[in-house]
Amino acid sequence: MADHLPCHWWDDGHGGRYLIPGCAARANDPQECTCEQPWDELPRLRRELAQALAKLEQTEQRYGDLHAAVLAHPDAAAIYARADMLAAARREAAR
Ligand SMILES: [Zn+2]
Repeated sequence: MADHLPCHWWDDGHGGRYLIPGCAARANDPQECTCEQPWDELPRLRRELAQALAKLEQTEQRYGDLHAAVLAHPDAAAIYARADMLAAARREAAR
């Protein structure tokens, strides 16, 4: 999305409605508009969501593998106690 507003109508609240051009095309011809619209972003957003979900799945699988490995370790209780301490410290730091 552009860093400026696309062409839009501004309502002055008193019955007046004014076209605010967001692109040069519209400024030159009220029938034209080359602004990127919010729905133009949909394919990119869907791609980013799919990538984020794939990354989440990989991370969950990695966590599951680590969890299984720790549970199989003789020091599992101490490792989880340490992880709980780290999580508590992070929560405290975020407050
Ligand atoms: Zn436009």
